[in-house]
Amino acid sequence: MFGCAPTTSNVVLEPAYRTPFHDEACNMEGLDVTQQVNARRRSVRARIIGLGLLRRPVIVGKFEAAISQLCDSIIGSTPDWSDDNSKRPRVSFRRLQRLKARPKIAVTYTANEFQGIYRGKKQHDEDFDEVIKRAEAVGCSKIMLTTMTMQGARQNLEVCTRWPKTCYMTIGVHPYHAAELYDGTTSLQELVHLMKLLMPMEKSPLVAFGEIGLDYFYLERAGKDVQQRAFLDQLEIATTFDLPLFLHVRDAYQDFVDLIRPYMSKLPQGGIIHSFVGTKEEMLGLVDLGFGISVNGVSFKTAEHLDMVRAIPLDKLQLETDAPWCEIPGSGPVIEYLSDAPPLPMSRKPGKFVRGQMVKGRNESCVIERVARVVAGVKGIPLEEVVAAAWGNSVDMFGLGVNE
Ligand SMILES: [Zn+2]
Repeated sequence: MFGCAPTTSNVVLEPAYRTPFHDEACNMEGLDVTQQVNARRRSVRARIIGLGLLRRPVIVGKFEAAISQLCDSIIGSTPDWSDDNSKRPRVSFRRLQRLKARPKIAVTYTANEFQGIYRGKKQHDEDFDEVIKRAEAVGCSKIMLTTMTMQGARQNLEVCTRWPKTCYMTIGVHPYHAAELYDGTTSLQELVHLMKLLMPMEKSPLVAFGEIGLDYFYLERAGKDVQQRAFLDQLEIATTFDLPLFLHVRDAYQDFVDLIRPYMSKLPQGGIIHSFVGTKEEMLGLVDLGFGISVNGVSFKTAEHLDMVRAIPLDKLQLETDAPWCEIPGSGPVIEYLSDAPPLPMSRKPGKFVRGQMVKGRNESCVIERVARVVAGVKGIPLEEVVAAAWGNSVDMFGLGVNE
């Protein structure tokens, strides 16, 4: 999942975002970073107020109708694979319906923990609506749902339908699932087909292409060869759609850079390296390529990690939680930055679940406020400055309906 924190305008962003601010970015030439951030914040606040008072009910009504229609078209009919019938996936429509009825693992919303499943055991019913309400209560007004599989894309679409003002989604096949593109589970054609359905929508929930990338930490999930094949095949697709990228790279920096560098000129929207945990030098190399950098609790584990976070240029920074994973460590160098943080809502162990309360060990979006506190503390700058920069960068990249 994606993100940010509490601002003076009480708006927080949980991950990042298309480029509605191109005009303003042009007008901001000559301003320093702080002035740009302040200008953006005023603009965002004005737009949100305008949207809320004047246009939102009309827009939301139309959006919901469009999404319902879309769900019907995806789930209620056999897709048209006429683009390339010879590569039609071996997944039958009936199987797709079964998969839909029994969600499988993906990321964020689609993760087991958000279905109430821990270590393979169902402990409670799904409570994602409560998770979103808790996020909104700390000022987190936008949430990006990351997609790891094609089945996950359908589940995320359903959440975006329920929460059209708050939830947006990415689409792509994560490196862990790279082999599924070639073993009949899904296909590049299915990915393109879904994108062609989602992209033309007037208020499309689709804001980024990903997660795609490389992860050599868990090679048992997918080997290097198939990961690289899936990454390159999806980069080719990315060049045909006008979307920013949502990228995952872990223990694979050099191969990642070597593979993506030739595509950079064909990907004008750039992208974000999410959940970044590499070295400071790697982070700066990715910034040089033009990418934004997004961090969460997993980026705060060691003093070396915090040095990397300190060095992220403010105009490239975005914030996220990567919930339900990547909790902020409960001990270590990060603790000093959280001494003033307001307490989190009450939490209980999974087996003692109470609807409306957090679950111990399961990260969620309302923690974004603390992610912002750590980054501000590490950088030695005001919380508001970090929040405003991350919000502005996310809205610049992904749009998130802020200026519509
Ligand atoms: Zn990831």
